[in-house]
Amino acid sequence: MINVTKIFLPPIEKYHKQLQRAWDNQWLTNRGELVLELEEKLKKYLEVSNIIVTSNGTVPLQIALKLLGKQGEIITTPFSYVATTAAIVWENCTPVFVDIHPEHLTIDETKIEEAITVKTTAILATHVFGNPCNVEVIQKIAEKYNLKIIYDAAHAFGVTYNGKSIFDFGDINTCSFHATKLFHTGEGGAMFAKDPDLQHQLFYSHNFGHKTALAFYGLGINGKMTELQAAMGLSVLPYIEEIFSERKKVVDYYNSNLNLSKLQVIKIRENTDWNFSYYPIIFETEEGLLKVEKILNDNQIFPRRYFYPSLNTIEYTKGEIMPISERIASRIICLPLYVGLSISELQEIVSLINANL
Ligand SMILES: *Cc1c(COP(=O)(O)O)cnc(C)c1O
Repeated sequence: MINVTKIFLPPIEKYHKQLQRAWDNQWLTNRGELVLELEEKLKKYLEVSNIIVTSNGTVPLQIALKLLGKQGEIITTPFSYVATTAAIVWENCTPVFVDIHPEHLTIDETKIEEAITVKTTAILATHVFGNPCNVEVIQKIAEKYNLKIIYDAAHAFGVTYNGKSIFDFGDINTCSFHATKLFHTGEGGAMFAKDPDLQHQLFYSHNFGHKTALAFYGLGINGKMTELQAAMGLSVLPYIEEIFSERKKVVDYYNSNLNLSKLQVIKIRENTDWNFSYYPIIFETEEGLLKVEKILNDNQIFPRRYFYPSLNTIEYTKGEIMPISERIASRIICLPLYVGLSISELQEIVSLINANL
């Protein structure tokens, strides 16, 4: 069986070695030695000034929206994982969708201004499949209308844009270290803010608002990563270059062997060092997609319709029509992409697709 992804597991001895430290310290959470070390190593690796690792990739979205969204209208993309929209609604903010660019698949920055109202507080956009949004234009709009920018960078681990970490743009960035993501801690995530004051607010917000054991800076929630999660992260991180290069091989294979005259692939923004996080293909019609999906499934190959449905059509957001996002969502599927996918498996996937376009 070939699934859309397969989690990367380091040799178990390496994980045992990290876990042993937690046992020796008798310390499982509350920002122990392993969490602090993981933060230091990620900071160096990603070349960012600040990072707070978290229990998952959704809590940082909620914290960011609590701090910057302030129950207002949030301009957002309908083409993302449901967590992006759900976090907005969960924080009592109102999602205002703006359609996506048909090739980049990120929010269409040229349509943002017309969606702004007096109630708009922030823009929450996703660097979808690790492809950066048009961060320069979004920055200009935010400055003009005095809005905050949150990037859901769950897919964007290791991506650089114009030579800088993608986590450097916007006010707050969030990332996911879920088991299926490129770098992972089982469950986990991170948040980033360059502004020291905002960084401070993120920090206390993820630890119940604590200032000291008995005093509080303000309202907070529990978003802490455990030592057990950090142990996984510290065991996976040494393999990160291998993870990138193995994924690149798969992407290169698809690029040179799929019949791209009949399929659309994502257009990565210029000046981006991409992370090979997903390989979406877009069919000419939904029927075409369903036909190929069935044939692949019959051969024990399970790509995933990702992202489907368009988020403006789910039960609690239904209303607006987003023609491009809806059209893409109905025709897009992500192909298997992971470390260890063999050439013979790739050959099988590609020949089944090409023969049935
Ligand atoms: C995975 C993902 C999340 C949520 O991350 P979790 O770590 O699973 O909570 C949020 N947004 C996007 C776009 C994602 O793909």
